[in-house]
Amino acid sequence: MIHIPKWDGHTHTAFCPHGTSAELGRYLDRAVELGFTRYTVSEHSPLPTNWMENAELQSEMAMDATELPAYFTYVAEHKRKYEGRLEVWTGLEIDYLPGKPEYTLELVEQCHREVEDWVISLHFLPGNKGMRCLDYTPQDFEEGLLGYYGSMEKVVDEYYNQIEQAISLAVKLPGSRRLGHVNLIEKFSKSLPPIDPDQQEKRLMALLPKLAEAKVGIDVNTAGLRVPTCGKPYVPVWFINRCLEMGIPIVFGSDAHRPEHVGEGWSYYEDAINGSPAN
Ligand SMILES: [Zn+2]
Ligand SMILES: [Zn+2]
Repeated sequence: MIHIPKWDGHTHTAFCPHGTSAELGRYLDRAVELGFTRYTVSEHSPLPTNWMENAELQSEMAMDATELPAYFTYVAEHKRKYEGRLEVWTGLEIDYLPGKPEYTLELVEQCHREVEDWVISLHFLPGNKGMRCLDYTPQDFEEGLLGYYGSMEKVVDEYYNQIEQAISLAVKLPGSRRLGHVNLIEKFSKSLPPIDPDQQEKRLMALLPKLAEAKVGIDVNTAGLRVPTCGKPYVPVWFINRCLEMGIPIVFGSDAHRPEHVGEGWSYYEDAINGSPAN
């Protein structure tokens, strides 16, 4: 058995417009109850003004830039409050923005004194009428992305092309850093045309040496288990094992958007690492 820190490294708060208003203390109490010893609060960071044509949808994606100082204060207060019981790390889930990496780098420059842990995620791809969210709804994916690229194969290629760009940006993040939910493209896979498993495996394999060289970790994000159109974590077991072999850091992430999500899917992570035959 490999000893692994019981760490939930990807979680959200009331600062997330598509989450709940539950107090952070409720998330942290749940983590303590489940025996976690470390916990990263990784809220979605602000997006550039007019990033999406659909302004209303954009406002649901992330906090406003003016809220960042209050977020850091909020996490710092809880960090102190839980000292000795739970190691609370101040994090941010930042976006790799296709065509606009400089925005994220500027944000990193602005916040690197506060942030101890970075999750860099790809949630947007260029599509019909500008930037489209790839994890909003299956209908939106179909209209905004599938309709634009013409085939799932092309959407998938564009997705992993941008993921590779995200790794190149992640190299510049100071300290602890990892790539968020590497297979988020599978979120609606049960209600969209199928993704070619060979294509996907090939693209994932190609990421491994890049991650190893860049010293960028992987968020073993289990949120897909909660999504009926996905039904599985966003990182396959074989990929977790290759990361371990290649010395790529891996951290479990529940992607909790409500207190009861904290720690969900931990056993998948633990079993993957310990080579359970169930997987
Ligand atoms: Zn979210
Ligand atoms: Zn995310």
